[in-house]
Amino acid sequence: MSGCIFCRIVAGEVPAQIVKKTDAILAFTDMNPQAPTHLLIIPTMHIGSLNDAKDPNLLGSLLAFARDLAKEKGLATRGYRVVLNTNPDGGQTVFHLHVHLLGGRVMNWPPG
Ligand code: AMP
Ligand code: ZN
Repeated sequence: MSGCIFCRIVAGEVPAQIVKKTDAILAFTDMNPQAPTHLLIIPTMHIGSLNDAKDPNLLGSLLAFARDLAKEKGLATRGYRVVLNTNPDGGQTVFHLHVHLLGGRVMNWPPG
């Protein structure tokens, strides 16, 4: 998907602060952080949204990847939030599946 900003990050065409990478998953810092730690975890293949995600193993891997990053960043004990916005009502603005990992401050509930 040449027009997709996250595909362009995967391809190395758009700079990003890469935190961790496997063949299937990439994590990088959000350019507009909403918490002291705000990472995005994405599949390296283009999937538009959670609605389009066919492979439950990939979804599990994204979640485990976020959990492992939270541990590595020292967030696990105090806690953190994992968010997956889907489509306009869900607040999704980039249509390449991504999991937000937020931590380093107390999170509020309900979310906005
Ligand atoms: P969402 O609203 O759930 O679709 O989240 C999209 C996120 O991507 C937002 O938090 C943006 O700040 C972030 N974002 C958009 N473009 C970039 C980029 N080029 N590098 C890093 N983060 C980005
Ligand atoms: Zn994409």
